[in-house]
Amino acid sequence: MAWHCTGATNNELIENLSREGLIKNEKVKKAMMAVDRAHYAPSRPYSDSPQPIGHGATISAPHMHGHACEYLINHLKPGSRVLDIGSGSGYLTHVIAKLVVDSPSRNGTNGQVIGVDHIQELVDLARNNMNKSEDGRELLETGVVKFIKADGRRGWPEGAPYDAIHVGAAAQELHPLLVEQLRAPGRMFIPVNAEGSMTSAFGGGQYIWVVDKKEDGSIQKDKVFQVSYVPLTDAPK
Ligand code: SAH
Repeated sequence: MAWHCTGATNNELIENLSREGLIKNEKVKKAMMAVDRAHYAPSRPYSDSPQPIGHGATISAPHMHGHACEYLINHLKPGSRVLDIGSGSGYLTHVIAKLVVDSPSRNGTNGQVIGVDHIQELVDLARNNMNKSEDGRELLETGVVKFIKADGRRGWPEGAPYDAIHVGAAAQELHPLLVEQLRAPGRMFIPVNAEGSMTSAFGGGQYIWVVDKKEDGSIQKDKVFQVSYVPLTDAPK
């Protein structure tokens, strides 16, 4: 973990991640600069580490948010439709929203990001966090960002097809229903437990998979790097 990237301000954190090569894409850098993590990770907002946000969830480390955006960037354009499953704090949903709208005027595109979480309190938290900034409020009011309570393993068929699907919790499989909801071309970024590893196991046994649905509808799956995410599970009773 790149603790030494930690900054005193949001800009310093993002600059440090960029200098260390953990964020390479200028569009991703600009979007992350524009969203203050203090609204989403109140305890140590500018630390390059995951932080607890309650209900057993964590906001991922900034470098992981950067990696997720970079893997998806070719599918995060003004007008793109995106599904963010396990939206938790709402931070990444906000960053993605910055990439799918035309700046500074948002009128030109129909870009939209749907954040899905199965815990109502976290759906409310994400909305409250976005309401802390004028930019966030505008993205909610214009319907560019919507937060929905649902089981993300089923995706959100009402909004499909999606140019990009981000999954922020470790799945047991490359859920076929999610692949179905991808546009052709489209891309999904999803952490998946390695076969035989336990859902609850932290550290080891989870890999990011990048799933591409090509223009002709064919599917390519690539296992790209090892990670440690909160599990994508049944909702707590
Ligand atoms: N991207 C978020 C990650 C939050 S942690 C962030 O950086 O803030 C993972 C989230 O996945 C948690 O909020 C958890 O409630 C949610 N989650 C777990 N299983 C889920 C499921 N089946 N459907 C929807 N959300 C789920």
